[in-house]
Amino acid sequence: MTEKFEEEMRKSLLSLKQELLDNINSQNNSFHSLFSSADPKDDVDIASDEIDRKMLESMSSQDADKLTSIEAALSRLDAKRFGICLQCGKKISEGRLRAIPYAVFCIDCQNNNER
Ligand SMILES: [Zn+2]
Repeated sequence: MTEKFEEEMRKSLLSLKQELLDNINSQNNSFHSLFSSADPKDDVDIASDEIDRKMLESMSSQDADKLTSIEAALSRLDAKRFGICLQCGKKISEGRLRAIPYAVFCIDCQNNNER
């Protein structure tokens, strides 16, 4: 895998992650406005912890899974383990990674798992 491709994948993953977070944030707008209008004397740290917790709770499990997969793919990029199938250890094709940058299985294993 070339550095150029890794860089391309990193950018795709980061933008997917941003998209997902923006999506979650927009779903929680009413929630955030509730907190931002709170008394500024309130303990800000506790309030922001509370927001994080509520945000995670309000995420659909599908979004949460996707976010976890994206985070995992980014750490595999850092560990130089990106693009290697978790099941058979073979390289995942670049075409598949371009379509799904957070894929963890090669197409063969994916098909086997779905069967
Ligand atoms: Zn495989």
